[in-house]
Amino acid sequence: MHYDLIIIGGGLVGRSLACALSQAPLKIALIDANEQNLPDPRLIALNYGSVHFLEKLGLWPCLAPLSTPIHEVHVSHRGRFGATRLSAQTAHLPTLGSVLRASDINQALDETLSQARNPGQFTEWRPARVTTLTLHEKKSTLTLEYQGVESRLTGNLIIAADGSHSTIRRLLSFDTHTVDYQQSALVTTTRLGRPHENRAYERFLDEGALAMLPLKDKETQDRLCATIWTAGTPAIAALQSLEEPAFLQALQTQFGYRLGRLTGINRRAVFPLQLIQVKNPLQGNVLLIGNAAHTIHPIAAQGLNLALYEIAHLSQLLLRNLREQEPLGAGLAENLSRFQPKMNLLFSHYLSQIFAAGFWGSNFARQLGMVGLDLCPPIKKKLGRRMAMESIQWLTS
Ligand SMILES: Cc1cc2nc3c(=O)[nH]c(=O)nc-3n(C[C@H](O)[C@H](O)[C@H](O)COP(=O)(O)OP(=O)(O)OC[C@H]3O[C@@H](n4cnc5c(N)ncnc54)[C@H](O)[C@@H]3O)c2cc1C
Repeated sequence: MHYDLIIIGGGLVGRSLACALSQAPLKIALIDANEQNLPDPRLIALNYGSVHFLEKLGLWPCLAPLSTPIHEVHVSHRGRFGATRLSAQTAHLPTLGSVLRASDINQALDETLSQARNPGQFTEWRPARVTTLTLHEKKSTLTLEYQGVESRLTGNLIIAADGSHSTIRRLLSFDTHTVDYQQSALVTTTRLGRPHENRAYERFLDEGALAMLPLKDKETQDRLCATIWTAGTPAIAALQSLEEPAFLQALQTQFGYRLGRLTGINRRAVFPLQLIQVKNPLQGNVLLIGNAAHTIHPIAAQGLNLALYEIAHLSQLLLRNLREQEPLGAGLAENLSRFQPKMNLLFSHYLSQIFAAGFWGSNFARQLGMVGLDLCPPIKKKLGRRMAMESIQWLTS
């Protein structure tokens, strides 16, 4: 079977790309190794630019009632002087972004895709696993296992969004830089003694960091937040094994009382953390995007934001190829540097290193990071805008 475009990986990134191209006259295959709608406990902060992009994809009518806007970000270090605030007002934006459950984004992508996709043009293979991939100049060939049968597919362009443990990255031996942070992230939702007032908190600890992001649900309204606690893997394993009252106590001690008394938590999930960065994500007509190309520390909440930025650029280029009757993917190699906002990768990696336990052992560096930003409003303003917008002109044009 031949397709114009094969997308491998139907997670948040693969399906966002499929959504962005759903109206294009393209024969598209989407392959995913899992059943649809597996539970995904991740809680995601999207910047203002990403929210605009999801609006453009038609997802916002589903997502708006489920999203919680962030009006202010408060960054501090436990037990030390110095805090910095980034506000939507200072950045001259309506909001700095929104917090969403990954499962809600998945659901909205499913609904939008099932309405928007071009019947007969779009085929979903799942659960199906790619086992081989051979590069050819004009169309590459892959084999996949689907319902116990091996099938052979060819594609003019293959885009792999198959996550941090990408099979495609391994099959084609992409040159990859990997750092095992020896850290994990614990994710849960926490019920609050008082309303969050749409303020997000990032708190650096002696070991690791704690993010409390505003969230809502029908029951608790605005007395709920997304908790993302990163620390060394043994420390996170210990937190995961605590009974709820002991965990709440530990959380309250580390976070303090800015959100009042913390009254309860929900299910806890743990994710191991690493940095994966592919040096050049393009080989022939195979391109890696999303976590397959760059997996970053969640400290700066940028992984999906980066990928949506990539998708916005990429889909524009592919639609231009169609308009100008060029081969699909023409100009990709030349435009790659524009797709990849390296600053963000560096920023996120820098933060995770600065605040990792034991790095330099330096209180000075931490204070400098926090207070330095506060002492320097133009930098803070620029940082706030950059975190929030990520070249919004590009995303929304
Ligand atoms: C704790 C935590 C908090 C985060 N918070 C934020 C945040 O606040 N903001 C933000 O922007 N980002 C955040 N991120 C990052 C964000 O979740 C990821 O960047 C994003 O979800 C990556 O999506 P993806 O589709 O590339 O990968 P994945 O979600 O891993 O999806 C990969 C897909 O590929 C499929 N697959 C795998 N192997 C194969 C194969 N061989 N064949 C076919 N299919 C295959 C899988 O089934 C899966 O569906 C966070 C991450 C973590 C861990």
